[in-house]
Amino acid sequence: MEMKLGLIRQIDNFGRLSIPSDFREPSRLYPGVSATLFLEEDGSLRIQPHKSICSLCGETLHPEDAVMTIRERKICEDCQEEIRQPKGDI
Ligand SMILES: [Zn+2]
Repeated sequence: MEMKLGLIRQIDNFGRLSIPSDFREPSRLYPGVSATLFLEEDGSLRIQPHKSICSLCGETLHPEDAVMTIRERKICEDCQEEIRQPKGDI
């Protein structure tokens, strides 16, 4: 992957920084997505979409997934399907 360097942005008085869409889209930092900020040992920052996981199977959930939330726990589409149609005998 090609690294894009040299973009200069000014941080406003509230500490906000605007990230252009051609940087956000390959990083999957879509509007409304929660992001996790990491402070690296050398003082640099790394930003990536917050990885939300299914409470039942641990799979990573993506913004485009039809996630169900029950009691503040997120459940992926596959687990939702299995809850609707349980496999095997009970
Ligand atoms: Zn799941």
